[in-house]
Amino acid sequence: MNTIYFDNSATTSICPEASEAMVNAIDCYGNPSSKHIKGLDSRRNIDKAREQVGKALGLIRPKANELVFTSCGTESNNLALLGTVYAKERRTGNRIITTDSEHPSVDNALRKLEKDGFEVVRLSTKNGVIDAEYFESVLDDNTILVSLMMVNNETGAVYDVKKLFEMVKKKAPSAVIHCDAVQGFLKCPFNVKSLKADLISISGHKVHGPKGIAALYVSPELIKAKKIVPYLIGGGQENGLRSGTENIVGIMGFGAAAEAGFANFHRNREIMINLRDYCTSRAIEVGAKVNIPDGERAPHIVSITLPDIKSETMLNFLSARGICVSSGSACSSHSRHISSSLIGFGVSEHDADCTIRISFCENNTSDEVDAFIAALETGIKTLVKIRK
Ligand code: PLP
Repeated sequence: MNTIYFDNSATTSICPEASEAMVNAIDCYGNPSSKHIKGLDSRRNIDKAREQVGKALGLIRPKANELVFTSCGTESNNLALLGTVYAKERRTGNRIITTDSEHPSVDNALRKLEKDGFEVVRLSTKNGVIDAEYFESVLDDNTILVSLMMVNNETGAVYDVKKLFEMVKKKAPSAVIHCDAVQGFLKCPFNVKSLKADLISISGHKVHGPKGIAALYVSPELIKAKKIVPYLIGGGQENGLRSGTENIVGIMGFGAAAEAGFANFHRNREIMINLRDYCTSRAIEVGAKVNIPDGERAPHIVSITLPDIKSETMLNFLSARGICVSSGSACSSHSRHISSSLIGFGVSEHDADCTIRISFCENNTSDEVDAFIAALETGIKTLVKIRK
């Protein structure tokens, strides 16, 4: 059975460039902290990969504490949030501003901070848009941190974070700005200069790199002002911001994937936009509802609400036919909670339980969309409906 893989927001296949780099990396077994030739060889390869990933973010020769390699997007988000808030001596307030639709790696980290006494303000993301006027009204001198995701992993809403971050610079200039760009990296056009965030999280396995590797951009101003502290403490790797012997295979794979993705950015984006728009119109034709954000839409995500069919039932039906989709974000499928992103978007609890996510990469085709739609149509006609 041929597989149709439409779950690229959960993770992607490894591209040939990353695969080749990782095979070469196996020979780079020297510890990058060692001063002999094997150590220096590993160090050189890490430096090269940091430049490759950095270039895709608009950085030229980033230092190790400017682009910190971590183990996953979750760790990047945790380091960004806990690392800045616990830089206590630099803290001058108590308020943290975020949205009601963040990934659990942000949401649960902020819930922990809430328990520790911080005030967390969650902005509505109704119809995929953050209300800029309300955002401005809650920004004040007491605000220490603003954490907004770039692309919602379940609805594909692209929030207007550039505009919102500019407001922070004007109304709460001492607040630290974090952007979870895990779903936006190499999908949406941005770089560190245009985004104006102090901290940006990205992850390797979402962009055809390997799992177990990600990065956090940290602005030089934040480092200079000592507004971030490490939470993984040890030998002082990554200029002290993330201790632990570096994952060279992962780092070299991520570097190669980022370089290839950046070189083909416009081509890949266009392919995904065409697939997204084609899939959207065909899904509506066969009786599904597509959750289309009022603002900008990510090129790779389509959120589809089925007519009274549980997402899990449809997921299993499609999977039996070789088609891989998701019934919500991969991470939230570990818990039985109704998706906060869908509820935040304005989808009812009943409909959220009937919503599947299709997510593309540049290797998908319109023929695959046709095969998916044919299976979806059969599924809608034959599967048992749940009562409203
Ligand atoms: N942030 C967003 C928006 C995500 O979609 C994900 C993963 O789905 C993460 C963070 C976590 O990334 P990782 O799987 O690398 O921990």
